[in-house]
Amino acid sequence: NRLLSKRLQNISYSQTLAMSNKAIKLKNKGYDIINLSLGEPNFSPPNFILNDAKKAIDEGSYHYYTPVSGYLELREVICKKFYRDNGLKYIPSQIVVSTGGKQSIMNVLLSLLNPKDEVIIPAPYWVSYYQMVKLCEAIPIIIPTIMEKNFKINPKKLEESITKKTKLFILNTPCNPTGSVYSYKELKNLVEIFKRYPKIIILSDEIYEHICYSVKHTSIAIFPDLYDRVITLNGLSKAFSMTGWRIGYIGAPEWISKSCEKIQGQITSCANSIAQRAAISALNASPIEIEYMIKEFKKRRNLVLDMMKEIPEFQIINKPNGSFYVFPKVSDLFGKKFYGKIIRNSEDLSSFFLEKAQVSTVSGSAFGDNEYLRISYATTEDKIVEALTRIKKSIKII
Ligand code: PLP
Repeated sequence: NRLLSKRLQNISYSQTLAMSNKAIKLKNKGYDIINLSLGEPNFSPPNFILNDAKKAIDEGSYHYYTPVSGYLELREVICKKFYRDNGLKYIPSQIVVSTGGKQSIMNVLLSLLNPKDEVIIPAPYWVSYYQMVKLCEAIPIIIPTIMEKNFKINPKKLEESITKKTKLFILNTPCNPTGSVYSYKELKNLVEIFKRYPKIIILSDEIYEHICYSVKHTSIAIFPDLYDRVITLNGLSKAFSMTGWRIGYIGAPEWISKSCEKIQGQITSCANSIAQRAAISALNASPIEIEYMIKEFKKRRNLVLDMMKEIPEFQIINKPNGSFYVFPKVSDLFGKKFYGKIIRNSEDLSSFFLEKAQVSTVSGSAFGDNEYLRISYATTEDKIVEALTRIKKSIKII
């Protein structure tokens, strides 16, 4: 519709949500769909968090607006968490709690970006960064990476993509969709470049921080030269399996946290009050409390990788060390004909798997690289085995 704003016409629907919705619709029609397109853990949130949320409801004084940036008690707990888990020192005025990491990111982008500003995003990237940057009328500058290099950018590539208009760099480690985790050393090498460009701000999305296997997660704000221009983003969705509770938060220089608060004050006020009480309970707890989920994810990651060895058309030579996705190269299947239809790209392949194997995945094109497919292993082992067996069978029949 022409009456819609140009800003809106310029962006597309979230392809991960679209794929999930398609799968849910087919499931509701009675099809036995296995959903490997979701960015959502299948655990229940830990009981101690749920109990504290129930207590907060019964207690009776938490049904009202909270301060825009979140209860002070929660922001204090977040400061403790940042110090305990990441070695980062923040004070409550540097923290803003929002309705999910998505809102936290949008607050930051709206605070910083002017039309035509450039934002560097390494690809494959999480779908929403690209669209959110466009929604701000800024320009996403994509740095492609390759599987052979673990989908990581190197300092040279980073420097080549910097121009006078570069305003922001978005880092996502552990990464959705590749599972890559930057080591301390790799980040240090990037920091050396940023030191030469003091005006570039860094948004560090660490929402998968705890879902990290053999490499230790490092926050880029730990480097003193950068601390004053890094926004560290985190949330409850992935680590605590609390996607629907919608709690995200940032730690940032005060001039940025204050501007996020200003925006949020106009468009949402505060995040949900009971969810904030639950967040106090979640973030006060030691990460040991959620270790059982991480162990489970690791087992599933190994299972997926083992099973993929038996599907030669799925190439995967990197080792995804975090998040709960694998990102195999599937372009060997392009140009091949199945059931009379040619698979031209990752979207065709994803649709093919949904129709013929009844497994939903997300095309690599959604993440900025058409040669790949994203498979989420945030589901049970049984379902993973069944889904990959179906996928394997579906491409054997030519
Ligand atoms: N960042 C990344 C990389 C994600 O994958 C997601 C969710 O899929 C988010 C941020 C936002 O999560 P939420 O809005 O549920 O906190």
